[in-house]
Amino acid sequence: MESPVVVITGASSGIGEATARLLAGQGARLVLGARRADRLDALAAELGGEVRTRATDVRRRDDVAALVDLAVSTFGRLDVFVANAGVAHVGGLDTQTVEDWDEMIDVNLRGVLHGVAAALPVFRAQSAGHLVAIVSTSGLRIVPDQVVYAATKNAVRTLCEGLRQEAGPHLRVTAVSPGFTATEFVDTVADPARRREYQERMAEIAMPPDAIARAVAYAMAQPAGVDVGEIVVRPTAQN
Ligand code: NDP
Repeated sequence: MESPVVVITGASSGIGEATARLLAGQGARLVLGARRADRLDALAAELGGEVRTRATDVRRRDDVAALVDLAVSTFGRLDVFVANAGVAHVGGLDTQTVEDWDEMIDVNLRGVLHGVAAALPVFRAQSAGHLVAIVSTSGLRIVPDQVVYAATKNAVRTLCEGLRQEAGPHLRVTAVSPGFTATEFVDTVADPARRREYQERMAEIAMPPDAIARAVAYAMAQPAGVDVGEIVVRPTAQN
């Protein structure tokens, strides 16, 4: 694909940031969204080239629509929407709050749906497009304390397969499932003891976020007639 136009949500750190770096290095034109606009702007300044940013909360439909509008108004098209923004609250179903569940549903599922709502009409008008969703191996091997998180990720996996069937031949849909990846993700675990546990485990086995960026780039790089449906990437040491 010649200099694709790519929107990435959650590009202010971790996997989203690594994906932005890799794709920028390959000549992609980027529109980056997340709540921490200062981090997006610093990244854009570092990358140079054709990168735009916009403060975006994926829980807000209008924010995500504005991100897609920015891509189209700036670059004239949208080739790939990477739905990467995500949050996890760790804990048992009897200890988590309904607010924890709501946030995971709102960011991890509703946020992706906002991306679909914004990008699909553009893809349809172009008769071409690619939705890449970052899901999780948590949805493949369900572990205690991550049940609602896994449910949101599996809901997105279901959405991807349904979208693929509904949208027809012009749309490519890829669900990328990362295993344990060294990002700021575990720093948000609320319980200090659990947080330390996750951070230690991360230091032991996690893979760099670039491993996931390469999976996204691989799916994008296939010829238009080849749709990579799912990619699972784990650290070799992850069970
Ligand atoms: P990070 O915490 O580094 O990145 C999460 C990103 O999501 C940040 O850029 C954050 O930006 C953004 N984000 C969170 N809430 C919102 C929101 N409401 N609106 C917009 N952006 C938001 O973690 P990762 O890079 O690891 O996470 C990226 C994706 O990878 C997530 O979907 C996660 O579920 C998935 N994943 C991660 C794994 C891991 O081991 N790290 C394993 C499997 C999947 P900001 O705070 O600036 O808004």
